[in-house]
Parts: sequence; structure tokens; C-alpha cells
Amino acid sequence: CGIVGYVGQRPSELVVVEGLRRMEYRGYDSAGIAVVADGVLATRKKAGKLANLEQVVDQDPLPPSTIGIGHTRWATHGAPNDVNAHPHLGSTGRVAMVHNGIIENFDDLRARLEADGHQLHSQTDTEVVAHLLELQVVSGVDLTTAMQRVCSRLEGAFTLVAIEAEDPTRVVAARRNSPLVVGLGEGENFLGSDVAAFIEHTREALELDQDQVVTITADDVSVTGFDGTPTQGRQYHVDWDLSA
Ligand code: GLU
Repeated sequence: CGIVGYVGQRPSELVVVEGLRRMEYRGYDSAGIAVVADGVLATRKKAGKLANLEQVVDQDPLPPSTIGIGHTRWATHGAPNDVNAHPHLGSTGRVAMVHNGIIENFDDLRARLEADGHQLHSQTDTEVVAHLLELQVVSGVDLTTAMQRVCSRLEGAFTLVAIEAEDPTRVVAARRNSPLVVGLGEGENFLGSDVAAFIEHTREALELDQDQVVTITADDVSVTGFDGTPTQGRQYHVDWDLSA
């Protein structure tokens, strides 16, 4: 129900958890985070309140990192437990992904993956997308291209945000009938399902259209359609007062 993505100079764990806390008002049943450090993904996730996730991270600290994604889940497919909490990983653990919404054709996609020998660990519609994304990345394309290709095969409403272990410079996201905004910083950029995810860091935001993929690095933001055609979001200033 809430999504955060970050890449920049600060400890990503702090930025992501703060962002999730700012979106707690939306309601959720589980929470999770993934970061990349030294070419490896580190993921922590837990059913229940954000405090439960923070306890897990206290007991089993994440490595220092300046890139990360986070999620608060409102379960639609699969019980609200630790396994079904996001992020979900591809089969080799190279891609981590979070998702808000519903993938309508996940049954069909899941059956095909299983026929190809993939083992899925959760009951979510989300995990199939993580596997599909990772298959693309492993085939040699970058995460942006991977996201474009996979989104073209998805039906339903979704905000997706992903990172991959071997490219700690970019966070890639996509949306269809589900909210996603970009927060524009100096030497850092943010993604959120809501401006609350990053408003304490920047009030410059970029609104995206439907069926778009956005890639953020510390210094750049680029937007395309699902077919890869470059496009642009609409920049605006968030002038409402969060404490109001
Ligand atoms: N459909 C996904 C799930 O059940 C995402 C739910 C959400 O929007 O948080 O895990």
C-alpha cells in the first residue's frame, strides 16, 4: 500500500523506513526493505507493523547502502505473513521487487514459470513479476529494458519498483492505473506511491502518465513508455503542508 525507492548519498535504510512511516496512514499488514551492497541484495521483511520490521533490522542489520526500496503491503493474493511480504526476489536473488496493486494474469504467468522449472515461494501475484524481471536481466539487458519488456506482458493495475544486485546505480519503476511519483533531489532521487514518501527531502516532484517506466539514478531521471519510447513527466512543486 506504500512504496518507496531511493538512490543517492544517504543511508538508504533510513530514507526508506522514514518514507514508509510517512505512508503508514494508508494502512498495511506487512512491511519490507531491500538494499544493494557489494553486488549483493539484502532483504528484510516482516508481517505486522513497521516496528516489527525495525526489530528484525535491529537484530540482523542491513549492510550500509545508498540505494534501496521499501514496501508496506495490503494483501490481495496470499495471507499477510512474512513469506508473502515484499520485496520479492527472482530465482537467483539478483532482482528485488515491490508491488502495489494486482497482476490479473498472474495465474497464467505463474504456470508458465513453473513449467520452466521456477520455484515460487509465496502465494503473491508479485513474485512472478520478480522472476520475469530477473530472467530478462540475466539474459543481459539492463533493468530499465527488463521492466519495459515485462510490463508489456502484464494485465491489471500496478506500481512496480525494482533494484538489481549488479547495478547499484539505478532504481527502476513502472505504473499502470496505480500511483507513482518521482521526487527530484540534488545528487539523489526518490520514488513514492505518494509524495509523503519523500516530502521531507524534496518538494520538487515529477508526475508520470499511465503505462510509463521511470529510471532514477543519483543524478538523473528518465521516463519511457512500456515500448521504450522516451517521454517526459510533468514537473511540479509540492506546496501543501504535510503537518496540516
Ligand atoms: N497484490 C500484491 C500482494 O498481495 C500487492 C498488494 C499491495 O498493493 O500491497 O502482495
